Amino acid sequence: MNEINNVPTSEELLEHIFSITQNLYSEMCCTDGDVDNDHARIFKLLTELGKTLVNSDRASFWKWDKRAHELWTTAAVGTGRIKIPEGTGLVGKALKERRTIITNDPYNDPDFNSSVDKSTGYVTKSILVMPISNCKGEFIGAYQAINKIGNDEKFDLEEDVKRLSLAAFICGITLESQTFLDDSHHDKLTEIKNRMGFYNDYNKEFVKILNDPEAIRPVSLFICDIDFFKKVNDTYGHNAGDAMLRHVSGILRRNIRICDGIYRWGGEEFIALLPDTTIEEAAETAERVRLAVMESVCEFEDLKMKATMSFGVTQIDKSISIEDNIKVADDKLYKAKESGRNIVIV
Ligand code: GH3
Ligand code: MG
Ligand code: MG
Repeated sequence: MNEINNVPTSEELLEHIFSITQNLYSEMCCTDGDVDNDHARIFKLLTELGKTLVNSDRASFWKWDKRAHELWTTAAVGTGRIKIPEGTGLVGKALKERRTIITNDPYNDPDFNSSVDKSTGYVTKSILVMPISNCKGEFIGAYQAINKIGNDEKFDLEEDVKRLSLAAFICGITLESQTFLDDSHHDKLTEIKNRMGFYNDYNKEFVKILNDPEAIRPVSLFICDIDFFKKVNDTYGHNAGDAMLRHVSGILRRNIRICDGIYRWGGEEFIALLPDTTIEEAAETAERVRLAVMESVCEFEDLKMKATMSFGVTQIDKSISIEDNIKVADDKLYKAKESGRNIVIV
């Protein structure tokens, strides 16, 4: 280390880079099957790599969540996780303008968001934001380095961008693969999770809850289906049917807790997974959704459409498979349909 300006020698830098890439390699090889976690650990190392390459005090890697219209830090070194609306801050600006942004005087930059500094007492002196794209050239995230160490504490557009490109392009590919995985768990029409997302969540989170060694924790689920949905398509057309599916998905999403999962099971059928919920509580949630759907109006072009839904509720019995548990709820849904629809059967 050069003691005068805190800049590592070329040899020290190479050694540091290779120890990070070796860690990256072992992370990839020692997978325990927990794919999402692997991405998080890889992002953390890649952020560390970028920080090392440009010799900055802090670094963060931002994902552009186009579904939620937000930018959030997938990994940050030196700061906690941050979430901001898309198009805001220097990261939003770099993505909007599709260019690398350097500011060596952030407090006089109108796009700099000083709220993190204000709440933590940190003083930002220089920032480099490099937008990151996938292989198709679409911007999907950004790398942000904060407070250059050495070199008059200023980032250099040529030298630092050249160095950071090593981390940025690996980040791009990793983020793209995470985005593909995430997309494959979501339904394009309603933007809620699909059947693949259901199995992923169930096996990753809900099985853990059901097998919690500390406590017995109930998990319930309900399955619901739009009544006479075929009539909507036949009367108003397929696009109106699609609008109704989006409308109902929105009501489902707004009527569950953050910890609950809502999934498009297929066609006009949805499943809700409710952790720490007894069957009675699940029935209350289902009833709330039923009323909300019944009382709502779905507007599409100049149409105002109404719909109702039927529900089957069950508490998960962990001694049988998830498919068999769904079958129990589905049988109740069938009874709800038989008994005239627009009802919750427990
Ligand atoms: P029930 O009350 O018994 O559930 O009657 P239903 O008409 O809702 O049920 P049915 O199974 O007869 O019809 C479901 C319809 O849902 C048929 C199918 O064309 C339509 N559907 C499935 N997926 C979509 C979709 O993505 N968009 C649209 N518009 N329609 C869909
Ligand atoms: Mg139906
Ligand atoms: Mg159906």
